[in-house]
Amino acid sequence: MAFNAEIARKDFPIFEEKMRGKPLVFLDSAASAQKPRAVIDAMARFYSTSYANIHRGVYELSERATGAFEGTREKARAFLNAPEAREIVFVRGTTEAINLVAATFGRTHIGADDEVLITHMEHHSNIVPWQLLCEEKGARLRVAPIDDRGALDVEAFGKLLTPRTKLAAISHVSNALGTVNPVSELVELAHAAGVPVLIDGAQAVPHQAVDVQALGCDFYAFSSHKVFGPSGVGVLWGKAEHLEAMPPYQSGGEMILTVSFEGSTWNEIPHKFEAGTPDIGGVVGLGAALDYVTGLGLDAISAHESELLAYASQALETVRGLRLIGTAPHKASVLSFVLDGIHPHDIGTILDQEGIAVRTGHHCAQPVMQRFDVPATARASLALYNTRADVDALVAGLERVRGVFAR
Ligand code: PLP
Repeated sequence: MAFNAEIARKDFPIFEEKMRGKPLVFLDSAASAQKPRAVIDAMARFYSTSYANIHRGVYELSERATGAFEGTREKARAFLNAPEAREIVFVRGTTEAINLVAATFGRTHIGADDEVLITHMEHHSNIVPWQLLCEEKGARLRVAPIDDRGALDVEAFGKLLTPRTKLAAISHVSNALGTVNPVSELVELAHAAGVPVLIDGAQAVPHQAVDVQALGCDFYAFSSHKVFGPSGVGVLWGKAEHLEAMPPYQSGGEMILTVSFEGSTWNEIPHKFEAGTPDIGGVVGLGAALDYVTGLGLDAISAHESELLAYASQALETVRGLRLIGTAPHKASVLSFVLDGIHPHDIGTILDQEGIAVRTGHHCAQPVMQRFDVPATARASLALYNTRADVDALVAGLERVRGVFAR
């Protein structure tokens, strides 16, 4: 059956709630997505029937829990079309995935006078870990520029790849601008210069199918909560050759093979990077979320959202004094904007009175705000459950905001 957002929306119990006495218009999925009943039920079922600690138990319940947990590893492998399930490392989210790579691969390969290349549109979580690493090592952070539409300057990116560049870390989709980066092309450029590439996929995986083998990247990170799963869980995919060569990240139980007071040896990947008891129920919920989006079909979701983004971009242009921040030719899901003379926080607060949830602020991308010379924006972000009615409600809400300030 063809994808139908009106029907998919019914999978999400949250839309039965009223906000400020009005139907919920949820336009903040880039911050965190709502959860379908399939995820909520899978987690309740797991805790009701299959919960125990994983991996070391010899009893049936622990085997059930381990099976469910490891089942998600295979689902995540298939979701990213990764070659092997052992290349999937469960982490707390994209932030931890990037910190893990910085603390292990980064500390091993980046030394004094080396460079890490990022772009001007990165989320703070793909800036600060590299900044700290560069400070520690006496290395330099280089930043590829973006143009006035928020598109990456690919030529400049290419020129910034030098023999000193030891890693490029780039977002697949910008959370503040919606720009979709040409990641295959960037990976090709970087690899031609011998530079490995980490891709921050936090804003990509809810909106489009991702194939890490086709992209050719070295690492790919995403968060469960943005792809309709629970918060507190995420995935780092890395090529086995990298993961095997990397030193451990956190240490303790599970990540070891042997421990004595003289020294310890490490477990095989991915367990080497999964110290301590993980968020077992969360990982099971992530598995249900991946099943859910895969079942709907990411190509169908992507087609729906592209159509809705085009509709929304046109509709917002009718609002007097509104300026979209981020108009790159290739965009996904995000509409960041400012309204002449009205602070974004006021926009958010007035829209809230209508039951409309948008995000306002710097979106953890302060360099983007600096680039566009705005202190903050209001951001409406779309997901599979949004419809034209949500966009129409936003436009009507913005007219109301203008009305309040015209008084
Ligand atoms: N990268 C991007 C592009 C994001 O949008 C976000 C979250 O907004 C993150 C990284 C960080 O994700 P998390 O907070 O789930 O670790």
